Amino acid sequence: MKVLVVGGGGREHALCWAIARSPRISKLWCAPGNAGIADSAECVAISDGDIDGLVKFAKDNAVDLVVVGPEAPLVAGLVDALDAVGIKSFGCSKAAAQLEGSKGFMKDMVAKFGVPTAAYGRFTDPKDAKAFVEKQGAPIVVKTDGLAAGKGVTICMTNDEAFAAIEECMVGGKFGDAGAEIVIEEFLKGEEASFFAVCDGENVIPLVAAQDHKAVGEGDTGPNTGGMGAYSPAPVFTDAVEAKVMDQIIIPTVKGMAAEGHPFKGVLFAGLMINDTGNPKLIEYNIRFGDPECQVLMTRLKSDVLDILDGAATGTLDKVKPEWHDETAMVVVMAAKGYPGSYEKGTEIKNVPAADAMDKVKVLHAGTKMDGDKLVATGGRVLGVTARGATVTETQKRAYEAVDAIDWDGGFCRRDIGWRAVAREQG
Ligand code: ATP
Repeated sequence: MKVLVVGGGGREHALCWAIARSPRISKLWCAPGNAGIADSAECVAISDGDIDGLVKFAKDNAVDLVVVGPEAPLVAGLVDALDAVGIKSFGCSKAAAQLEGSKGFMKDMVAKFGVPTAAYGRFTDPKDAKAFVEKQGAPIVVKTDGLAAGKGVTICMTNDEAFAAIEECMVGGKFGDAGAEIVIEEFLKGEEASFFAVCDGENVIPLVAAQDHKAVGEGDTGPNTGGMGAYSPAPVFTDAVEAKVMDQIIIPTVKGMAAEGHPFKGVLFAGLMINDTGNPKLIEYNIRFGDPECQVLMTRLKSDVLDILDGAATGTLDKVKPEWHDETAMVVVMAAKGYPGSYEKGTEIKNVPAADAMDKVKVLHAGTKMDGDKLVATGGRVLGVTARGATVTETQKRAYEAVDAIDWDGGFCRRDIGWRAVAREQG
């Protein structure tokens, strides 16, 4: 099978690394890819936003399956454009992508499907938004309707903070068009986890859960990032919680989206809040694998990932049963110093092959390129050092031994990825 993966981050490196292990693969490309991906796939210089260029490449090279990594090309309609020329893909349509692209759309849909989620209101007028805050009272959460790279959510502990967040979005235009409409919702208490399910429009199969660390600083402090690390399984996500999530959240969504005329194909990533009695509520949907959660999912996956991706693309997921390593997987993200603020690009990274050669370790690249024979950083999040182990404690130790083998003056990482799971394990 000839496969094209779209994207060039750590998630896409994880996907390419897993696809390259498949006995079904005959040729693998990645557009645009990165220096690490080049070990598993042939990188082609087409950006993930160039829909016409990607469709042309897929047609010219008789690609059998296009696997779309990031949300932006899905929201822009890449899958619809591929469908129009008869090329199979893993990913959802532009219409279904609104589950991530518009928080208001997502909330209206899941409310209609009876999914447990935070109570909410949608607003285009700041006066109405403020009146809603006065009525509900803090703590309360103000969100831009559109995509704002994870920065459009403000948790407000007082009404005044909520009024300020409303002003910033709707009057100050801080998030441009994405903030012209906002969603205000009830503050949920509990422990967060991410759960992934793969759908073919009709059938849906559960994958596994993970937990990530969004904040840049140790102890989950400081500004939010795209994710500084993750691990799977998530101890809070017991079999009983999974059963509730499938029955109350995922299955009603997949059935509901089909009934609305927007069947969901691809991966449904549910951001969940699980309360202390084990009841889950949906915080958000994403329509793609998480980055860095995908890195730990692909590390734990034992079966052929192409069976899952192709099963979703061809409507045959009912025949697919993924198998997983029982072990824990963890990814520690190494980022350029200064991230998520401004940071230097082009700093040299040494000794990655030594870390990569360690037992049960894989170094996945997120923002790298080769500059002559030197590996250099090109982005904020640069490497995802991934490890597997029998316990969380052992996995964490292995991951940090690999981090320490890498020689990169321009980089840093959090030293406490998985702290909650380690504390649980050590009692
Ligand atoms: P990201 O891309 O970082 O996932 P996003 O912009 O898609 O962010 P959400 O996932 O909806 O936004 O919210 C980001 C974070 O804010 C959540 O991971 C959660 O920690 C917190 N959050 C969002 N909604 C609520 C809520 N109703 N109650 C409590 N916390 C919330």
